[in-house]
Amino acid sequence: MSKVKGFLTYPRKKNPERNPLTRTKDWGEYTLRHSEKDMKEQSARCMDCGTPFCHTGAEWGRSAIGCPINNLIPEFNELVYQGKWKQALARLDETNNFPEFTGRVCPAPCEGSCTLAINSDPVTIKSIENEIIERGFDNGWVQPEPPTHRTGKKVAIVGSGPAGLAAADQLNKAGHWVTVFERDDRAGGLLMYGIPNMKLEKETVERRVNLLKEEEIEFKLNTEIGVDISREQLTKDYDAVIVCTGAQQPRDLPIEKRESKGVHFAMDYLTRSTKALNDGSEFPISAEGKDVIVIGGGDTGADCVATALRQNCKSVVQFGKHPEQPKDRTDDNPWPHFPLTFSLEYAYEEAYKKYKKDPREYEILTKRFETSDDGSLKSLQTVQVKKELVDGEIITKEIPGTEKEWDTQLVLIAIGFTGPEKDFLDQFNLKNTDRGLIWTKKSSYMTNQEGVFAAGDARRGQSLVVWAIREGREVADECHSFLMNQHKAAYIS
Ligand SMILES: Cc1cc2nc3c(=O)[nH]c(=O)nc-3n(C[C@H](O)[C@H](O)[C@H](O)COP(=O)(O)OP(=O)(O)OC[C@H]3O[C@@H](n4cnc5c(N)ncnc54)[C@H](O)[C@@H]3O)c2cc1C
Ligand code: SF4
Repeated sequence: MSKVKGFLTYPRKKNPERNPLTRTKDWGEYTLRHSEKDMKEQSARCMDCGTPFCHTGAEWGRSAIGCPINNLIPEFNELVYQGKWKQALARLDETNNFPEFTGRVCPAPCEGSCTLAINSDPVTIKSIENEIIERGFDNGWVQPEPPTHRTGKKVAIVGSGPAGLAAADQLNKAGHWVTVFERDDRAGGLLMYGIPNMKLEKETVERRVNLLKEEEIEFKLNTEIGVDISREQLTKDYDAVIVCTGAQQPRDLPIEKRESKGVHFAMDYLTRSTKALNDGSEFPISAEGKDVIVIGGGDTGADCVATALRQNCKSVVQFGKHPEQPKDRTDDNPWPHFPLTFSLEYAYEEAYKKYKKDPREYEILTKRFETSDDGSLKSLQTVQVKKELVDGEIITKEIPGTEKEWDTQLVLIAIGFTGPEKDFLDQFNLKNTDRGLIWTKKSSYMTNQEGVFAAGDARRGQSLVVWAIREGREVADECHSFLMNQHKAAYIS
């Protein structure tokens, strides 16, 4: 901690962002980079606490306190303050395979757990992380490093999202031959087709995938396991298989006239919009000139709002079933937990600046769609709801007299995901949990099939990039032990 009292000298400086009104005219990232001076001052705010909660990654239910991959935050902050960027990169590399992804899209649970956040603004950890890796690329410090020895073992990874990529990177470093199978035309999973360009430009994803290829990881794209290659073939050709297929089955809204022309799943809309941008073709589902309604108050819905704005929608509204979040932490959401407080995310700020109104509508339930004679969507009807505690159970009650009709020509359903695809689980005879996720042994990543592992959203349920990276790293450790024990057994016999 070179700069004693840095946290008293410098206020937190938010990551700079492009103007919300002009950035919606293109698809470039909405964030900018800090200057060197800002980074030095912001890293000086770190107090190098005796017990830093920011890097603990301790699980609490389905969330965590601090960084899930245990980034060595106070250490890299100090190195950045001293201007030792290359050493800071070496520290970051120890725990994070892809800081350029988390540095852009992580919701930064580390910052919610920063000691400064008890009564002040936390250190801007996420921006520092991003700056370290981007300087690494700018200065040519990030170079392919293929392993110097090979074990001769072969691993197949199904799915190229952050979990699959992290597992591939770790196992390749350990000397195994790794092949990643991906059914899409590009690698990256939701990093490529899910998270939109304005949060994560696709060149950034391809930059990392190319590096992994140069390190001798093989990618087989447009290859769906279970369709193009059978389970029998895969398990015969490889010594171990890791299933990282994600949990992209969307939850549906089975209400009247759901089949209307103009009602789509958010993921279809986002994926096809990104594919069109990659290919330079027309948007197959376009919001242009339409009154858009996004059903679902989460992050996927927010990405739909931002995408619709860039396609020049006429208006955009996002429905959520929960009440507006409080400005400050509540008693049941104390530090060092992730703060569940109101924030104006990038998409909402853009909509607010354009229409002078927050696009979010709270505690609202969609009842039915209405169509024109040709079956195309015309409007939808809603009612306001309130949660009530009845006999110890929380129930959602409709409020009489609050029914409302909304004109709309494009509805995007973003009410969550039900889990991985059932057909795939059946083909592999994989046991599933009561939530429909892939079952693995307690505190382990091995499925009910010997030598078949699972990690990421497919095992955990829809989560975050940082959790996918953690699961990818941990499953790689287990897979490595499995392969090396196999090797020993063969050697002994
Ligand atoms: C719209 C959206 C926005 C998000 N934004 C953020 C964000 O800002 N920050 C954040 O931290 N998290 C975000 N997330 C969550 C995050 O993207 C996921 O938690 C993460 O990508 C999960 O990684 P994964 O590797 O487990 O699976 P995925 O990223 O889902 O990748 C799974 C891959 O497996 C492939 N696959 C599936 N079946 C097969 C098969 N049979 N054969 C071959 N390939 C197959 C799929 O095509 C896919 O490429 C977002 C999610 C969505 C949907
Ligand atoms: S990966 Fe996420 S939680 Fe970890 S240090 Fe980076 S921003 Fe914070």
